[in-house]
Amino acid sequence: MRIVLLGAPGSGKGTQAQRLQAKFAVSQVSSGDLLRDAVARQTELGLQAKAAMEAGQLVSDEIVLGLIRERLSQPDAKNGFILDGFPRNSEQAGALAKLLNEIGQPLEAVLLMDVSKPVLIKRMTGRRICRNCGSVFNVESLPDGVSACERCGGELYQRPDDKEDVITKRLEVYQSQTKPLIEHYKQLGLLKSIKGEGDLDQITARMEAALAPAAPVQKKAAAPAAKPTKSKPARKPRAVTKPAKKAAKTKTTARVAKQPAKKTGKKSAVKAKKAKKTTLRKPAKKAGKALKRATKKKTLKKKSVKKKAVRKK
Ligand code: ADP
Repeated sequence: MRIVLLGAPGSGKGTQAQRLQAKFAVSQVSSGDLLRDAVARQTELGLQAKAAMEAGQLVSDEIVLGLIRERLSQPDAKNGFILDGFPRNSEQAGALAKLLNEIGQPLEAVLLMDVSKPVLIKRMTGRRICRNCGSVFNVESLPDGVSACERCGGELYQRPDDKEDVITKRLEVYQSQTKPLIEHYKQLGLLKSIKGEGDLDQITARMEAALAPAAPVQKKAAAPAAKPTKSKPARKPRAVTKPAKKAAKTKTTARVAKQPAKKTGKKSAVKAKKAKKTTLRKPAKKAGKALKRATKKKTLKKKSVKKKAVRKK
C-alpha cells in the first residue's frame, strides 16, 4: 500500500493513518509529526520550522522535502507507506512524484477525507494530546475535569496551532494551497473520496472499502463475490414481490453482478463471433470438397462421353 491521505487540518488523517498502519503493516509518514519531532529535539531544521508552524503557515518545501526523503529511505518504508500531511501544495506533489519514481515506488491512491468546516473547527479546538504517549483525545469525549491520559497517565496538552486564530489561518492555507491537489490527483486517476465524519470505525471501514483495489488483502476478499456471477447474466432484482430483507439481498447481488455480467456479455460476443467464423468455415470447406467432387465427376462423365463418341466413330 502506497497512499496519500489528503484533507483539511482536523479531517482525521493522523488518526486514520495510525489505524491503517496497524491493519496493513505499512508505515505512517506524517510530515507534521516529523516537523514536531524536529522542533522538540531543537534541530537546525526544527528551529527553522517552528515559527511557521505556530503561525499556521506552511514550512518551506525544502525543509519538508528533506525530512520526507530521509524518512522514505528507511527500510520500513519499502513495505509501503501512508503519507499524512504531505504533499500540501503543487510543488510538493511534483517533488513527491519525482522521488517515488526514482525509488520505483509510485503512488497507488490518494484518499480524500471529506469533512465540513464546523466539524473541523470543533475537532481542532477540542483536541488534546498526551505529552508522554502521543494519544489523541477530544475534550468533548473526556470526562469533566480529566487532564491526564487514560492510557498512560501522561499530561494532556493543546497543540499551539490548535488555538482558534491559528486554526483559521491553517484552514485558509488549506483552501488556497492544498485543495487544488484534489483536481490534480483526480486528473491522474488516483483520487478516491470518503466522508470523514461519524464513527471512527465506520470511517476506517469506508477508507478500506475505497482502497480495496489498491490493497491486496481486500482484493482477495472481494474476488469470491464476483466469481459465481461470471458466467451467468445478471438476474433482475425482484424487489416488489419479495420480502424487504430478501429483496435487499437480491439488489446487492445484482449490483455486484453488474460488472462481471457486462464482461461476460463482451466475452460471449467474442465467443459468438468466433463460433460464427468456425461454423461458416466448416460448410465452406465441405462445400469446396463437394464442388471438387462434382467437377471431378463432370470431367469423368465428359471423358466417357468423348470415349463413347470416338468408339461410335
Ligand atoms: P494538520 O494537518 O492538522 O494541520 P499537521 O500535523 O499535519 O496538522 O501539520 C501541522 C503543521 O505542520 C502545519 O500547520 C504546517 O505548519 C506544518 N506542516 C505539516 N506538513 C507540512 C507540509 N507538507 N508542508 C509544509 N508544512 C507542513
